[in-house]
Amino acid sequence: MNVLVNTGPWLPVPPPGYGGIENVVATLVPALRERGVRVVLASVGSSTLEVDELVSVYDAGQFAELQKPYNQVMGVAHAHQAMVAREVRRRDDVDLVHDHLEVVGPAVLSALGGPPVLHTLHWDLRKHPAFYGAFPSSIAVNGVSESQLRLAPAALRSAALGAVHLATPLAGAAPRAEPGEHLVVMGRVCRLKGQHIAARICQKLGLPLVLAGPVSGLGTAAELDAVAQDPYHPLHGHPDVRYHLEAVGPYLDGDLVRWVGTVEGRLRDELYGSARAALFPVQWDEPGGTAVVEALALGVPVVGLRRGCLAELIDHGRTGWLADTEEELAEYVLRVDEIDPEECRAEAARRFTPGVMAERYLELYEATMRRWRLG
Ligand code: UDP
Repeated sequence: MNVLVNTGPWLPVPPPGYGGIENVVATLVPALRERGVRVVLASVGSSTLEVDELVSVYDAGQFAELQKPYNQVMGVAHAHQAMVAREVRRRDDVDLVHDHLEVVGPAVLSALGGPPVLHTLHWDLRKHPAFYGAFPSSIAVNGVSESQLRLAPAALRSAALGAVHLATPLAGAAPRAEPGEHLVVMGRVCRLKGQHIAARICQKLGLPLVLAGPVSGLGTAAELDAVAQDPYHPLHGHPDVRYHLEAVGPYLDGDLVRWVGTVEGRLRDELYGSARAALFPVQWDEPGGTAVVEALALGVPVVGLRRGCLAELIDHGRTGWLADTEEELAEYVLRVDEIDPEECRAEAARRFTPGVMAERYLELYEATMRRWRLG
């Protein structure tokens, strides 16, 4: 089978450090290829993932464009998607397109007339009501959790082929790091991920907390400072930048609560794998939660608010704790040592490996092609 996997023009695959969708694809593609699938990757030219072919418009990731007004973002996304459409038309060897590019992806591909398309929904599907409410019916879709689909507009929910949980290559691997004392929040710094709540709890309890992740694409304190000092910088006043400065900043005392910016590769795995617990005080219905399955795979108990996919990924009392309020979250933070890291690792090795995810996608590829043949 020949599958064109489209991530869009935002970041290379694998991404350097932060990158949600690109990480998912970097995890999925090797497992598909091990199962005999030929993969053409549509991404940016600087992607280093081993694939059978790489097609691109842009050489470097266009992530910075995402911070601009929506009409400019659309220009970049359309240029990329037009390339994908041209590529699919030009060649007759693509059996299926596995699309991950939000909004523009399905819109362009639905006008193509074939081959079959499976679009993976990565977001909170209430985000673009007009778009997701009137999704092109010629395109098959899947979610990344049951809860994400439950909250989706009715038409999309009934059309979805199912949910495929996210995975990590860390699942089933040997432990990476010696346990340490710190707690960690791994993710984009923004209100949705709730870093300020973790900071408030840890400061109150006197527990060391490390916040890792970029702020609107800015990965270091120097980059963030430059934006904060320059009123003409396009990111000055960006909601995530303001969130970091106003809601998280007051807790950053350089001692108990620290922000370390983006962490990558081995450093990320060591920082994450040595944590006493990973905190997810999420303020939205987290759709997929790659960082949650990564924590479990590394043997790190997860403590989070019971929102979105968290209840599907975490077994309350066995692999972590799920709380309904900030007060309860604080109580569970004090009980992380009751969770056995080996239970976390075993759960991830059973449910969240690249192989498990690839097998599920192969089933959905078959279902997509069947549906397409039937018209
Ligand atoms: N991540 C990373 N370095 C960072 C922060 C995050 O490598 O400093 C990775 C994290 O390990 C995960 C991904 O970025 O693989 C975030 O994906 P997730 O699904 O957790 O969040 P979202 O897609 O909502 O940003």
